[in-house]
Formats: sequence, structure tokens, C-alpha cells
Amino acid sequence: MKVYKFGGASVKDGDGVRNVTSIVRNANSQLIVVISAMGKMTNAFEVLNDAWFNKDEAKIQEALVPIKNYHEEIVKDLFGSAQASVRYNEFISQLENRLCGVSSMHFDYEYDQVVSYGELLSTAIIADYWESQGLDCCWQDVRNLLKTDDLYRDANVDWELTTKYMKEAFQFADAGLYLTQGFLGGTISNLTTTLGREGSDYTAAIIGHVMDAQDVTIWKDVPGVLNADPRWYAGTVKINEISYLEAIELSFYGAQVIHPKTLKPLQNKNIPMYVKSFVDPTATGTIICERKGISEMVPVYILKTNQVFVTISPFDFSFIMEDKLIEIISIFRKYRVKMNLMQNSALNFSACFDRKRDTEAFLNALNKEFSVRYNEDVELITIRQYTPEAIEEMTSGREVLDSQVTRKVARFVLR
Ligand code: ADP
Ligand code: ASP
Ligand code: MG
Repeated sequence: MKVYKFGGASVKDGDGVRNVTSIVRNANSQLIVVISAMGKMTNAFEVLNDAWFNKDEAKIQEALVPIKNYHEEIVKDLFGSAQASVRYNEFISQLENRLCGVSSMHFDYEYDQVVSYGELLSTAIIADYWESQGLDCCWQDVRNLLKTDDLYRDANVDWELTTKYMKEAFQFADAGLYLTQGFLGGTISNLTTTLGREGSDYTAAIIGHVMDAQDVTIWKDVPGVLNADPRWYAGTVKINEISYLEAIELSFYGAQVIHPKTLKPLQNKNIPMYVKSFVDPTATGTIICERKGISEMVPVYILKTNQVFVTISPFDFSFIMEDKLIEIISIFRKYRVKMNLMQNSALNFSACFDRKRDTEAFLNALNKEFSVRYNEDVELITIRQYTPEAIEEMTSGREVLDSQVTRKVARFVLR
């Protein structure tokens, strides 16, 4: 049994869905397919959720229009009529009913209840399409199988319950092909949770681990894992084979191609993961597996944009030692700000993190206890297997606000 995962870019329109369908048909294996929200729909659902949370009726209706138009265009393309997908219509009515109520005061909870419709609608349409095309497919609601705690927007997997429910659901007795949603989970009270943005890769790995899959393939719009994001670096090269450990590090430092939590569950059971192109499905892609030593000795570049770089110093000039570190880190933790880089000296603690909607509140909280300076909209560049030339290429002509260089990795905060 194999697991395939398709992200939003692969199912962004009718042609995309047809292409994914043909890849699935050619699998020649029992298959569990994980699919994300179509195109950039998760962003559109975030806009909808903001309006819903702010109880702004006009904006809710305004945000719903592009969501419905987008999906109905795809349904029309696939079936010839915008009304043809029964499952889609059911979920849209469910969502509209929900939006007739009143939002609670828990932003993260509401977020998961609303944004999850991206994956529900996407898999609803594709399941109906596959059935119409004669595929022997069984749609599963992953919220009943992938059980989590109630840390909304960043839920943690309950492995014991998830194993129990997934093994019951994915028996391949009644179908040779299952279709389910990435990114979503459910609490033991059956409330919807999500695993964090871009979390569908992680869903595929969870299923692969629990079901002892032969392998897991994540189908992307790139030929495999490259030594940089081709959207900002010209002349990338593909890495054909890479160890779990190296790939974990790349994703940890922010290489967007794989969600950081994805590889550990696979490594634990030695299940290989392929990163392949849905544009060129027969090409080899990248294999991530157990192997010794470094793959290809090319520098690998990872860029994180829209970073806030903050420098924190105690008011009383005390040193940054254990007690102060605990105080600082607990404020980060309280606001769930994930540090992409941290560094401390005798009197300062510095960190880089992604700008988010509550960054202002977080900075205010820090300001109450510490002297705080910060720069916004900076970039964090990580170079693995760096060379002097690679460092020069990335930093020349730029103002370096901070740097951190170890034996294998060089990191720069740049304005
Ligand atoms: P998904 O369709 O699964 O959501 P993503 O858009 O999240 O896929 O990830 C694929 C994108 O990741 C690529 O289009 C590419 O721009 C970007 N990317 C960033 N770093 C790398 C890298 N090292 N190798 C390949 N792609 C990368
Ligand atoms: N749809 C979700 C997102 O865009 C999950 C994913 O695509 O992996 O973040
Ligand atoms: Mg994505």
C-alpha cells in the first residue's frame, strides 16, 4: 500500500484534477490519497474566517463569493454543470448554515472550523469526480480518524487513537483507493482541528507511518527537492537522494517544499518518501531515505521573508542567563511565536520570527518586561554546506543584522 499526497497547486483547476486522476489511475497499487484545499483556497478561507470572527456580515458574504465561484467553476469544468457535485453542495450548505450563527470568542477554534472547508470541499468534488469516472474510490472524513488534542491551528496527534481508527477505516476490503483530506484532524469530542499551515504533507506521513505504507509520495510543482526555491534562485539543481536527517534539517530551516513535521514519522519506520513532479510524473524526483553521509555537496539555500528581528535586553542590565531566558521564552510561548533563529550574548537576546496577526500584542507584552528593539520585513537566509562564494553571493551589498555560522550551516539576518 502506498500514500500519495497532492497539494493545492496540483488541483487548482479542472485540468489539474484530471491530471491527478491519471496519476492515481497509473499507481498500480492500493492507495490512500491525501489532498489539500484547491489552489490558494486556504488563504481565501482565512479572509472568510476573519470576517466571521469579527461578526461582519457584509464581509462574510463578500468573502464567500470568490470561494463559491472558484469551486463551482471547477465543478462545471469537470461535470459540465456547476450543480453536479452532490458532496460539494452538502458541504457548502453546511458551511453557510454555520455562518448564519454567531462566532465564539476563540479565534483559533473558529479558524479550524471554517478554514477546514477548503479540504472538505476539495476532496468532496474530487471524490464525486472519481466516482463519475468509474474509479473504485472511498471518501473518508479524516477528522474521524486522525485524532488530536485541542490545540487549534497547531494540533498534536494522538498516535494511539489515530492508529486504532485508521487501521479500522483503511482496510481495503471495499475499495482499492481511499481519498481523504490533508491538514485536518478531530478532537475526541469530534471538533475540527488543523495541523498548521501547509500541514497536508504531515498528514500523508502520519497515514504512511500508521498504515506501514511501502512508501509515501508528495507530488509537487517542482521536479523534486532542489538546492533552493526556484521562485527566487536561478540555476537550482535537483537533489536526487537525501537522508532523512538532512531533509529534516532543510525543512526545519524553512525549505517550503516539505512541512517540517513530515519526515520524523517516516524515518521512525524507515519508510521512504518521494518528492515528485505532478507535471512530469514519470521523472525520477527525489528520494528521501536512510543513508549515510551528505548527498550532493552543493550549497543549499533557504530563504525566509517577512521576518521580524527582535533584540531584547533586561531593563536592569542583568545578564541573559537561565532565569531571564525562561522569562523571555515563556512570552514567546504564550503568544505561540515560533523562533526561526535565536541568539544570545551577555546582555541581549535576539530572535527572528514570522510576522503574524498578533505580533503587535506580542511585542507589547515583551516591551512591558524588557527593553525591546526590532526590525520588520527582514530576510533570514540559511546556507547549508556553505562555501565562501555562496556566502558572498547571498550577502554582498546587503546589511547583515545578525549572523550565526556553524561547521555546516551559515545563517544571516539581512535587511
Ligand atoms: P504544495 O502544493 O504541496 O502546497 P508547496 O507550494 O507548499 O506545495 O511547495 C512547493 C514549492 O516549494 C515549490 O513550488 C517551490 O517554489 C518551493 N520550494 C521552496 N524550497 C524548495 C526546494 N528546496 N526545493 C523545491 N521546491 C522548493
Ligand atoms: N491547505 C492548507 C494550507 O494551504 C494545508 C496544505 O496545503 O498543506 O496551508
Ligand atoms: Mg502548500
